[in-house]
Amino acid sequence: QIFVVGSFVVACSVKVARLPRAGESLDAQDFVSEPGGKGFNLALAAHRLGASIEGVFAIGDDPFAAVAVSAFEGAGLATDMLVTRSGSTGAGVGFVDQAGENCLAVNLGANRLLGAGDVDRARIARADFVMATFESPDAPIAEAFAQARSRGIRTLLNPSPSRPIDPRILADTAILVVNRVEAADLGLDVADAGTAQALLRAGPAIVVVTLGEEGAVVFQRDETACRQAAFPVAVIDTIGAGDAFSAGFAVGLLEGRPVGEALVRAAACGAITACRFGAFDAFPTKAELDRFCDA
Ligand code: ADP
Repeated sequence: QIFVVGSFVVACSVKVARLPRAGESLDAQDFVSEPGGKGFNLALAAHRLGASIEGVFAIGDDPFAAVAVSAFEGAGLATDMLVTRSGSTGAGVGFVDQAGENCLAVNLGANRLLGAGDVDRARIARADFVMATFESPDAPIAEAFAQARSRGIRTLLNPSPSRPIDPRILADTAILVVNRVEAADLGLDVADAGTAQALLRAGPAIVVVTLGEEGAVVFQRDETACRQAAFPVAVIDTIGAGDAFSAGFAVGLLEGRPVGEALVRAAACGAITACRFGAFDAFPTKAELDRFCDA
């Protein structure tokens, strides 16, 4: 069972011929909205891979709260993971032009109001893995990770969107998964193993840096770095690829696979997600992942 310190965001975007200028109103060609948020994506991706999911997600008391409930129901995730706060449900608004160029702003809303008190000790105690992203505040992550570590339960942190990592959270992180941007913000240079060893001394036993179409690099204490190539695929969009990767890695380890094998499955999850539109419908099932890896 995986416990997710979650986040939920409704991502809305319009397709336009070109990005608008300040003060301008444009005619859009299409409107799409998709339930997401990094925490929701992690939970959904891991659920598709067969993991049983527990967690806590804060939503608001606006009309998008109902979108959250139907997204959880539609995904087969239990709605008792939702807690309600007064205010806005997380939502983002974006523009995508014909060339695929985009701009997006996300209001995390209720996600910012998740507190340490929302983390249920009994639920953490039942988990084999606890995962979090930086769409959640430090307090509930620190609480969940401290409880997990005191019980010997593994933790995975994806510090995205990037902000400095509280040293207590880092100390309680078993697996840190970062992309290029987050790695740079942490002073982690994939070409300089010393920078990874410094991070490994501050807490995590495993640090993974994902490099998009260039794959990923894994660092472990006192071991040489190990590279995982990306699977060559016809990319549609890479939305959710990082979330699929983290979920694939965690589920692989939960299944008792060695790090190298979990990494191959993580990269396969990222690749499958990148060759499908959006995130919600893009995350592979366990059967799809098995077929992809056997091919
Ligand atoms: P994020 O979305 O968090 O920035 P990345 O872009 O690094 O993360 O992607 C995460 C993982 O997904 C990569 O390590 C890779 O395995 C896979 N992936 C991402 N983009 C591609 C791509 N264009 N082709 C194949 N695999 C990809």
